[in-house]
Amino acid sequence: MRIRKGDQVIVSTGDDSSKQPRVVLSVLEGGDKIVVEGVNRVYKHVKKGHPKSPQGGRLSLEMPIDVSNVAVYCAACSSGTRVGARYLENGAKERFCKKCSTTLGVISPPRPKYAKKA
Ligand SMILES: [Zn+2]
Repeated sequence: MRIRKGDQVIVSTGDDSSKQPRVVLSVLEGGDKIVVEGVNRVYKHVKKGHPKSPQGGRLSLEMPIDVSNVAVYCAACSSGTRVGARYLENGAKERFCKKCSTTLGVISPPRPKYAKKA
């Protein structure tokens, strides 16, 4: 699975599953777990003086979920999709939607080693 911070994903399982794309806030070390905006939210009770909540009370924060529960969102398909990676002519690597082949963005700079020979 090739998910990165800032990606839009569809959450397919759990209480927060929906057809709406949501933003990946962070990818945990190892890449198996991610934190998605508004998904798997818990309320933590904090005392006064907490840096994020000076008044105390409840602090809402998202807990990590497994990457296998999400699919990368493709705007062209308007749905979750499987993601592939391929090299461009200049040797840069990009991700693409396996359904419609639309690019999902370049993920590494051009490298001559992978460039197509003219
Ligand atoms: Zn697509």
